[in-house]
Amino acid sequence: MHDDTRFVHAGREHLARQGVHVPTVDLSTTYPIEDLNDAAESLGRFAEGAVDASNSIYGRLHNSTVVGLERATAALESAEESVAFGSGMAAVTACLLAAKMNGAGHVVGVRPVYGGTDHLLSSGLAGLDVTWCAVEEIPDAIRPDTGLIILETPANPTLALIDIQAVRRVAGTLPILVDSTFATPVLQRPLECGATLVLHSATKFLGGHGDAMGGLVACDNAWARRLRQVRVATGALMHPWGAFLIHRGLQTLGLRVERAQDNARKLVRALATHRAVERVFYPELDPAYAALTGQMSGPGAVLAFEVAGGRSAAAQVMAEVCLITPAVSLGSVDSLIQHPAGLTHQIAGEKARADGGVSEALLRVSVGIENANDLWSDLANALDRSAYDQAEKAYSKVS
Ligand SMILES: *Cc1c(COP(=O)(O)O)cnc(C)c1O
Repeated sequence: MHDDTRFVHAGREHLARQGVHVPTVDLSTTYPIEDLNDAAESLGRFAEGAVDASNSIYGRLHNSTVVGLERATAALESAEESVAFGSGMAAVTACLLAAKMNGAGHVVGVRPVYGGTDHLLSSGLAGLDVTWCAVEEIPDAIRPDTGLIILETPANPTLALIDIQAVRRVAGTLPILVDSTFATPVLQRPLECGATLVLHSATKFLGGHGDAMGGLVACDNAWARRLRQVRVATGALMHPWGAFLIHRGLQTLGLRVERAQDNARKLVRALATHRAVERVFYPELDPAYAALTGQMSGPGAVLAFEVAGGRSAAAQVMAEVCLITPAVSLGSVDSLIQHPAGLTHQIAGEKARADGGVSEALLRVSVGIENANDLWSDLANALDRSAYDQAEKAYSKVS
């Protein structure tokens, strides 16, 4: 089946048999027990990481609405299974704990990554050592107890690209986790390029409307079992209402990403001509993009740029936009702008930001599906005002 069709139908194959047309939302936190022995067996199965059992027992162990979304995501990522969590960070945490269950004491990470992920690893909160390095340095960073390599591509917030097949070549058989939140399954299928686990903050493009939080990990059966064991133990299951909204969001994912990407391309071209913009970051502008063979089918709908005048100019651009919302997060139908150094990547710390190329002049834009001219008018106006005020300030200094 063509992807256009799969986005609309994935995870819905069983609905006709149930006599419904859209997934049902099961909000039960507990389930009646008819037979104690049967229930005890079900509970044991969930504790060992099974997907299903004859009785759902308790809302933290299993939810049928969530399973529907998991089936859909697994199909879209060409994975055996997928496991859903209450947020992207809950999903990252579960991957780290599952790696630990598998014997890991150490992970290797490639910067930049989302500020929360950087902080979780660097703080040692998950009980794992971390070595941050470039892809070429991975062989030297690997220790006997290394159990996972973590990367994002395109990376948050600079859109830096990593060739997943190149990482697979240097990583040998070590598991590789690719955070593919920016690309979505529309533009990139990391498992087909040699990744072991692919992670999404479903809060972003998959949900797509800024109204549901979630995280998803697509992987093989063995990793899925470990991830579900961690999820039961830590209470990180996605809420069924969120699962319903995200599953609905998947139906328009292809259309939304295509349209938002068209808009992003137009904004990138316009930004490059604006006098207040010093540098634009977008996958298509990166020489590495053309060298990625068969990894990405499009550059996506997130861009970043450095504005002349540093942090104060960037703050002013954020303050001057009217149509675009100054806010963190991304992947919604409406456009958002934010300052990574001050917001999403503040918690990562100065060293991580310097390593990852996250400057004080950097603004990140998540482009929505509005009209591109309207978006450019808003952004150009904010840039003009900011540039004018910067010039005024400079003038009052010399006069
Ligand atoms: C937002 C984000 C996360 C964290 O997801 P939450 O749903 O906010 O917990 C992880 N990775 C990337 C790339 C993100 O953009």
